[in-house]
Amino acid sequence: MGKDTVSPSKRKSQTRPERRLAVGADQTDVDVVVIGGGVNGCGVARDAAMRGLRVALFERNDLAFGASGNNSGMIHGGLRYIRNDPEVTETSCRDSGHIQRIAPHLLFRIPFIVPVERERKIWLRLIDAGLEAYDKFQPLKRGKPHTLLDPWEVHQLEPGIAGDLVGALTFDEWGIDGPRLCTANAVDAEEHGAKIHVGCTVEQIERDETSGAVQAIRFRDRRTDEPGRVTTRAVVNATGAWAPITASLGALPAQRALVRPGKGIHVVYDRRLCNYAIMARAVDGRDIFIEPWQNMTIIGTTDDDYYGDLDNVVATSEEVRYLVEGIARVFPSVHQARIIGTYAGVRPTLHEYDKSESDLSRDHEIVDHAEHGADGLYSMIGGKLASYRLFSEEMVDILARRFDAPLKCMTHISPLPGGDSYVDALGLAERLEVDAITTRRLTYRHGSRSLRIAERIERNPAEARATCPCEPVTEAEVRFVLRNEFARSVSDVSRRTRLGLGACGGMRCAARCGALVAEECGYDPQEGMRMALRFLHRQSRTRVCAMGPEQARQEALAIASVRAQLGISGQRSLRAEDQGDLLVTQPQPEREPVVASATPPPVVRKASG
Ligand SMILES: Cc1cc2nc3c(=O)[nH]c(=O)nc-3n(C[C@H](O)[C@H](O)[C@H](O)COP(=O)(O)OP(=O)(O)OC[C@H]3O[C@@H](n4cnc5c(N)ncnc54)[C@H](O)[C@@H]3O)c2cc1C
Repeated sequence: MGKDTVSPSKRKSQTRPERRLAVGADQTDVDVVVIGGGVNGCGVARDAAMRGLRVALFERNDLAFGASGNNSGMIHGGLRYIRNDPEVTETSCRDSGHIQRIAPHLLFRIPFIVPVERERKIWLRLIDAGLEAYDKFQPLKRGKPHTLLDPWEVHQLEPGIAGDLVGALTFDEWGIDGPRLCTANAVDAEEHGAKIHVGCTVEQIERDETSGAVQAIRFRDRRTDEPGRVTTRAVVNATGAWAPITASLGALPAQRALVRPGKGIHVVYDRRLCNYAIMARAVDGRDIFIEPWQNMTIIGTTDDDYYGDLDNVVATSEEVRYLVEGIARVFPSVHQARIIGTYAGVRPTLHEYDKSESDLSRDHEIVDHAEHGADGLYSMIGGKLASYRLFSEEMVDILARRFDAPLKCMTHISPLPGGDSYVDALGLAERLEVDAITTRRLTYRHGSRSLRIAERIERNPAEARATCPCEPVTEAEVRFVLRNEFARSVSDVSRRTRLGLGACGGMRCAARCGALVAEECGYDPQEGMRMALRFLHRQSRTRVCAMGPEQARQEALAIASVRAQLGISGQRSLRAEDQGDLLVTQPQPEREPVVASATPPPVVRKASG
């Protein structure tokens, strides 16, 4: 823990309800509704709750369902922005330093190599000059200065790099698990009093007919189909690429929260293929990369304007080929390696006309819709994973001024759950009598909170068994995320633990996980099995675009056999696949109501924007 890091006990005392003097004096259910459970929404919920505001967050799918769970996973400064957007590089590097301090367990170093071919010799000097400038920002994020390598050194470090090289340059970056970062923020927000509603779509932002000010949101629980209403004094639209749609829920023209949505895909390999991340140029001259990421390798990424369905973004075989062929020029062995999947997300980039996607600014901005007649409504546009904390702080500063909340932002020094102390994974392995890989993955994901999972195993040693052998994920961890991290389906568990994302694509673990989900959430066991099947279908859709026809046929056969084992037939569950795990086809057990207001909803009064 850093010198000026606040201890959890001190942190708690600052945000207890009795300190919430400045707010909550009126009759609204909450001070602020945050729409969107990506990194920005979760970051705002955490910061606002820590400053004593009464917060409710609504996420229509799952935490990190959007860009925050489908990116390149780097808390980086953005070397390529240094020329046109040096401020973005500076703020990202600075915030990366803060994120490393509050979630040290989630960070891992990714050194990059930029090989330069002899025929492009001049680039060695040009890139060297760019990296010289980047070095100035590196200390902000504990990055090492760049180095210059001769061809022999390049091949010593990374024998798989091909081509007639004049040399290479290195620079330093950090990787992070986006879904874990979102989850940690949401868990901490809840521990500071926020209400987190996952699987609930905000369907309308109600505004006062006369003043135009926001007064409530209406939402629908997608699992139960129950509607609800929460009165509020402010609404933060943190819905990333969905932002224009969300603005229109408050009767504003969508252009008031304009983004330029940019689709990016990644291709996933079953293991670490290289020691370092390697930069390459795609056929159109764009920078692409191959990077060891956690226990696998990814190549990325594309950047294309996207106007399709945001709830259903998948890679195409053309995009896969574009990336693989580009990487193969510098790292040919990707052709021999095994692709196990793809993932795709949509960047909520700031809108500019007449620019290519890659040249768009990665800066962020907050739109105060008071200027459009909707007082109390704000939209967060643009941004990066690497600067989410700062973006959230800027948003909550506005809310704090609005509500006269006196507490200062502490998110840069206050550890996220699990980030307060180091846990020795090897010692834990001995203590639990499980293999060290299992505990290393566990401590990576949960930091000091892995000890809570360890306690489960000590109470019930049977929970040490691996639910997902590829990753590996123990039964104790699955049960833990279902109880403590807002997971309610196989896909939710997968996002939080990486269950089913290994080589077998979930074939070996989805059914077992479905059974645990049903047990923990009180669903009918058949519903657990259906969730497992939907997960497998979705996984298979992310894989077929990267597979040959033979492998795709095998995949279809494997799913059919799982289907038969599960005793599920007919097209019903197939159709449910596209609607996510939230569609429940069985009667639901009684659940705690999530509706904050028990009174019948009044007539909606809207003002035009
Ligand atoms: C391919 C790619 C690579 C990237 N690589 C990096 C990188 O390496 N480093 C980096 O710093 N940044 C990177 N980024 C950018 C970064 O991921 C995004 O800027 C960031 O995740 C945006 O977060 P967000 O919370 O604004 O949006 P999102 O994460 O997209 O979250 C928005 C959420 O809103 C929810 N929602 C929408 N409508 C509603 C509604 N009506 N009710 C309730 N919920 C709703 C959605 O379900 C979604 O979960 C990358 C992005 C992409 C796509």
